[in-house]
Amino acid sequence: MRTGDGKHIALSITQPLIPIIKDHPNKMEVIIKCPYCGHETKVGLTYMISGFVGCKSCYFEEGGLFDTTIYLKSFDYLSYIDGQFYKDGYLANKKKWKERKKKIEQQY
Ligand SMILES: [Zn+2]
Repeated sequence: MRTGDGKHIALSITQPLIPIIKDHPNKMEVIIKCPYCGHETKVGLTYMISGFVGCKSCYFEEGGLFDTTIYLKSFDYLSYIDGQFYKDGYLANKKKWKERKKKIEQQY
C-alpha cells in the first residue's frame, strides 16, 4: 500500500491507482471513493477478492463483489480474468445477479 503523490493510493497490483478524497497519516483512515460502487470509504474498511477492491456497501451484498467474482470465476472465466465486469461496476452486475443466481442453482 502506498500513496505515492499523496493524491492516489494503490490497494491492488492488478488495478489502477485509486484517487484519495481525504488523506490521513494513518493509511487505514485515508478516505477514497470505492472503485467498484463509488461510495466513500476508508482504506481500512475495504475488502479485496482476486485483486478487486470493494467496500462494505458493495462487497457482502447479495450479487455484490464477492458473489459476482466467485460466479464469474466458475461460470465465465474469461470475464473474470478480463476484469471488465469490475469496470462496469456494482449496479451493472447487481442487475445481472438474478440470472446468475439461477445458473448457480441449476448447477447444484
Ligand atoms: Zn463499494
